[in-house]
Amino acid sequence: MGEFELIRRHFQRSGVRLPPDVMLGVGDDGALLRPARGHELAISTDMLVQDRHFFATVDAAALGHKALAVNLSDLAAMGARPLGFTLALALPHADDAWLTAFARGLFALADSHACPLVGGDTTRGPLNICITVFGQVLAGRALRRSAARDGDDVYVSGRTGEARLALEHQRGTAWASPASGADLRQRLEWPTPRNALGVALAAVNGVHAAIDLSDGLVGDLGHVLAASGVGADIELAALPVAPALAALPPAERLECLLAGGDDYELLFTAHPAARDAVQAASRTSATPVTRIGRITAGLGIRLLDAQGQPHSVRVQGFDHFA
Ligand code: ADP
Ligand code: MG
Repeated sequence: MGEFELIRRHFQRSGVRLPPDVMLGVGDDGALLRPARGHELAISTDMLVQDRHFFATVDAAALGHKALAVNLSDLAAMGARPLGFTLALALPHADDAWLTAFARGLFALADSHACPLVGGDTTRGPLNICITVFGQVLAGRALRRSAARDGDDVYVSGRTGEARLALEHQRGTAWASPASGADLRQRLEWPTPRNALGVALAAVNGVHAAIDLSDGLVGDLGHVLAASGVGADIELAALPVAPALAALPPAERLECLLAGGDDYELLFTAHPAARDAVQAASRTSATPVTRIGRITAGLGIRLLDAQGQPHSVRVQGFDHFA
């Protein structure tokens, strides 16, 4: 199977109709997208590298899903609706069964978000998957990291920490009970990007900043605070806790909740007057959200215990070059 046969067989889908905002997809020198009038183009790129982001043993369908999911999650954090994506793929060899499974996981998620593959590049090399996703958002409504304001509520979608617990489970540390292994692996390998919520939030007046949680809640919240020039109080007792985490010793539970990584939940801030509208966005997108704290004028993150007392824990976000 040569390069062009590989692309034709696995990535050029005949019989799948392109949405009206995609004028031209795979097969020409470039793709043509047409964002709706009055919208801005939102663009995000994420790369998955073997042994860094995943192990060689991971299921190819899960990898196809996750490669796109992490990119869709970035669009969700901008409040942008997906238009399409490109796929740059380096493969050690053209393994038909692997490619079939990879494409199955990839396209199932793409189809469920009406986000077609519109182009890419394919080359031989160590396994490396780079996706660029394109989306649109009403001009001026994108949710930026720099928009948090003193007095805002801080929210998180879903629950954090399960992907981290799954990783500990894979590493063979004693944290997770074996009974929860399969469910946890699902959370690590098949993350659900929160696009419906992101789009709904961008339409709410008073929703200010957002970020998606890829490197741990505290680390990613730190990016919002730094970009906005503010601080935050986080109420530890308010954090939603998955059943699998409830049995952990407190220090390990907090490590998962606050520094887990790979959660792909949205963290966002909103003016307190927007509480009802935020709940409505949560309902229309069928995505749970929890208020976990407040933005402060004083810099830094204070973690408050159930009595409102500052709790000293050291947690860090993930940094590839640290
Ligand atoms: P070029 O020589 O212009 O770079 P290529 O031969 O690399 O073109 O690709 C031919 C067509 O196939 C282009 O439309 C390109 O976008 C598409 N393509 C290549 N690899 C992929 C891929 N992995 N997924 C989707 N489309 C791809
Ligand atoms: Mg090319």
